Amino acid sequence: MAAEPQKMEFKSELKQILNLITHSLYSHKEVFLREMISNASDAIDKMRFDSLSNEAVLENNREWKIKITADPAQNTLTISDNGVGMTRDAVIENLGTIAKSGTREFLDQLKAADAASRPELIGQFGVGFYSAFMVADTVTVVTRGPGGEAEGIKWVSDGQGEYTIESYSKPSRGTDVTLHLKAEEKEFLEPWKVRSLVKEFSDFIEHPIVMDEESEDENKVKTITEQTLNSRKALWLRSKADVTKEEYEHFYKQISNDFNEPARVIHYTGEGTVEFKVLLFLPSKKPFDMTFGEVKVGPKLYIRRVLVMDHCEQLLPQYMRFVKGVVDCSDLPLNVSREMLQQNPMLEKIKNNLVKSVLKNLEEMKNTAYDEYVGFFAEFGAFLKEGLSHDYMNREALSKLMLFESMKTEEKKYISLSQYVEAMPEDQKEIFYLTGENRDLVAHTPYLEVFKSKGWDVLFMTDPIDEFILPSLQEFDGKKLVAADKSDVSLPSEKETKEAQKEYALLFTALKQSLDQIKEVRVSTRLKESASCLVSDKDAMSANMERIMQKLGQGGEARKTERILELNTEHPAVIALKKIFDANSADERIGTYAQLLYGQAVIAEGSKVKDPVAFANLINQLLVRNAGV
Ligand code: ADP
Repeated sequence: MAAEPQKMEFKSELKQILNLITHSLYSHKEVFLREMISNASDAIDKMRFDSLSNEAVLENNREWKIKITADPAQNTLTISDNGVGMTRDAVIENLGTIAKSGTREFLDQLKAADAASRPELIGQFGVGFYSAFMVADTVTVVTRGPGGEAEGIKWVSDGQGEYTIESYSKPSRGTDVTLHLKAEEKEFLEPWKVRSLVKEFSDFIEHPIVMDEESEDENKVKTITEQTLNSRKALWLRSKADVTKEEYEHFYKQISNDFNEPARVIHYTGEGTVEFKVLLFLPSKKPFDMTFGEVKVGPKLYIRRVLVMDHCEQLLPQYMRFVKGVVDCSDLPLNVSREMLQQNPMLEKIKNNLVKSVLKNLEEMKNTAYDEYVGFFAEFGAFLKEGLSHDYMNREALSKLMLFESMKTEEKKYISLSQYVEAMPEDQKEIFYLTGENRDLVAHTPYLEVFKSKGWDVLFMTDPIDEFILPSLQEFDGKKLVAADKSDVSLPSEKETKEAQKEYALLFTALKQSLDQIKEVRVSTRLKESASCLVSDKDAMSANMERIMQKLGQGGEARKTERILELNTEHPAVIALKKIFDANSADERIGTYAQLLYGQAVIAEGSKVKDPVAFANLINQLLVRNAGV
């Protein structure tokens, strides 16, 4: 069949990405080889997995191998594998588009990022194949799938916007990626260079990475032998003492697409009813794909060194989606389908073990490297909070990992619940917190006045998710958590509250009549400087939660809980109001004052007054009257 090669265009956004990749990654060009080898290795893993249920597909081509061939005459470097290969459709799908979501965001980030962090972003987005264009001006891919697909495919592109695709006779299964190196990149043809790059980046790849090497004997007779360049030792099967920090880091970068160093490496053998090897990594920075692309949960699952799943969701809970790594279990059956495997009860056992060890490692980090933990929490705290609201079994361990700002901390400084409890004065029996939109608002609410004067700290919960962890965080270390705006903590008052309540009873009834939004007016025992504040019943929804629900479109007036207006009977404004009322209980100013005291309280809790213009009018009336005009 001698059909003309078909010319096709890259999807438009890919064009821009290619442009950025080829023009902005000078400093890390050598990563292309790692990417090509990694793709070849993945293709072999896939083939090997498919052959588990049907060995015939191997067609006796089962000696897994990744071969690197340098051809100085042609100026080409070829990476060949006998993996799964690609059909025509797969070539178009995989090499002609970027199938992942969030391409737009990716491009924006890439443009905004400084040159040094660009390769990192590219890796995270999984555009590994295109890194070939950093060193090559043309890339040719010749590939063929297994079995009946006698026809191979040839794909050629200069990375400028178009590629050609045509049928091509390829005798054996697998893929050859040939890079026609740019004139200035000839260095990558040197055997020593290739050897050192493989050693540095891909040493732990399980399949042999080979290269032909020429040697001469004393009679100048040349022989070519195939040399294996990598040690092929699966890192997770080696003992911890034998693995260097660099090896862990390279491996982490390879499997995670994260260019940063991991914050923690967790490497151990799980023993008991099931035996398994674990190598997990906790990242130090939130990878790009956690913000945009879809995040896959779970470590790679190997069974006796054979990769069976890239992300085994059964092995980690959703909230631990930041954990990357490998689990290799020798007790699981290799010859069952993925679906059957996912139902195996052993996975649940392993999962419980992994979760415990991740939490234990975080606890250790908090106790032995507090500043580092604070940095980790700033990146991943929201995931741990999600865990606290879902993972009932590990509630205690998770609550120990929580950090909050508080009334006594500076901005962006945190304390843990245990630190809070340790610092509690003897007469304080409960842990107090206040939820709200941001620190600024929360720190200035009147609810804190009583706590300030007592010297008791109040935790600030200003992350929207905080409202959702509260149901799981009702107690810590035997102490109840209580909302500061619902507590009945009171200041020692000069006047007996009951007395004041009696004295003000008539006025309060009158005020209540002009304020139909509220349930009750009462004497406050929590205010020192402010005249008024709003409080809720103990089991009512917090004002912050109401605002969140409204933002989610689930609020509305109907939902608004009835609040209690508290007045500070030692405040001059409240005393003045009482005087007006005592002189003439029908004085029209009483209604105005009621609205003003209520409005102040609404603003102080971080909510919005319903009618800001009317509220401003009331203040203006007061100004005019005061000026005696
Ligand atoms: P990623 O590997 O992160 O998916 P790449 O850009 O490196 O992204 O590769 C895109 C896709 O092209 C791969 O997912 C794979 O399906 C296909 N591919 C690349 N190289 C090979 C290969 N050597 N053999 C088979 N498929 C390949």
